Amino acid sequence: MPETPLTFAVTQSGKRGLLALGHYRRALARARFPGVVVLCYHGIRADGWPAGSMPFENLHVRASTFEDHCRVVRDACDPISLDDWRAALAGRAPLPDRPVLITFDDGYRSVLTIGAGVLAANRLPAVVFACTEPMERRRLMWFDAVAAREGEEAVQSWKSRGYGEWLDACASRTPAVGDDDPRALLTPAEVAALSRQTGIEIGAHTARHPILAHASAAEQRAEIEQSRTALERWIGTPVRAFAYPNGQPGVDYDATTTAIVDELGFDFGFTMRSSFARPTEHRLERSRFLVVAEVTAAELAHRLAYAWPR
Ligand SMILES: [Zn+2]
Repeated sequence: MPETPLTFAVTQSGKRGLLALGHYRRALARARFPGVVVLCYHGIRADGWPAGSMPFENLHVRASTFEDHCRVVRDACDPISLDDWRAALAGRAPLPDRPVLITFDDGYRSVLTIGAGVLAANRLPAVVFACTEPMERRRLMWFDAVAAREGEEAVQSWKSRGYGEWLDACASRTPAVGDDDPRALLTPAEVAALSRQTGIEIGAHTARHPILAHASAAEQRAEIEQSRTALERWIGTPVRAFAYPNGQPGVDYDATTTAIVDELGFDFGFTMRSSFARPTEHRLERSRFLVVAEVTAAELAHRLAYAWPR
C-alpha cells in the first residue's frame, strides 16, 4: 500500500499507532537521508530503576526504550559503523540511503552491562566516546557529582568558569562511585572488553570533560591527548575519533580546539549541533541528534521519517 506522507502534527498516541501499523517503516523505505543520522546517547538505565532517583536521568534511556530504538534503526534504516563511513569517504563503497550511526558519550558502564548485548542482538555497530580520568580513579563524572550535591542548576554555572578554577575546585574533588550505580563509568578493563565486541569502536572525549573553550591551547591539548593515550594503552589499537564535551560549536569548543584535534591526527570529530551530518560538513565537526529518555521508539521513527529538518 503506498504511503501518504504526513503533513500535519501527530500526537504521541498517534505516532504509537503509526509505528504499530508499520507506517514509518514504509515511509522510510522510500526516503533518502541528506546525510548520516548520528544518534548521541549517554547511559542506559534498567527499567526497574526508580524514576526521579538520579540527576540527569533523561540522559539515561530505559533499557526497553533502547531496545525499541534499536529495532527501528535495524528495520527501517541502514546502520553503519565509522569504518563504513571511512570507506565511503575513501571512495571504496557508497553509503546506503538511510545511514544511521549510534554513538554514546562519556563511557557509562551501562553501555557495556545493558547496551552491548542489545547492540549485538540487533547487529548494530556503535562508537563509545570515553572520559578516561574518572574511569581510572573510579569517580563520578564531575557534573554528576555537582548535580547530586547542589542540583542540576549548579552544573551550568561550573560550565562558565575558567579551566584552572574548575579543575581545582570541581573536577579534582569528585567522590567515588560504586559499580552498581547507574552513573558509574566503565573500568579500563571493561573499555577493552567493549572494544573487542564486533562493530564497537572506542573514541576519545577528553580526560575530564572540561568546557574546552575555557582552557588554554596547552590545557586543551593535554586533556585530549591524555584521554587518547590512556584509551590506546587499554585497548591496544589506535583511537581515531573524538567527541567535543558538551559539543556546542563556538561555545564549548572553538577553532583552537579543532586545530588541535586535527594536529593530533583524529579523522572524525563529533559535535552536538543538531542536524543530519551532511557531506558538506567539516570532517572534524560532524552533527549529531541527541537522544534522551523521553524519546519513544515511535517518536524516534517520526523524527527519522519527518521531523528532523531535511
Ligand atoms: Zn560528554
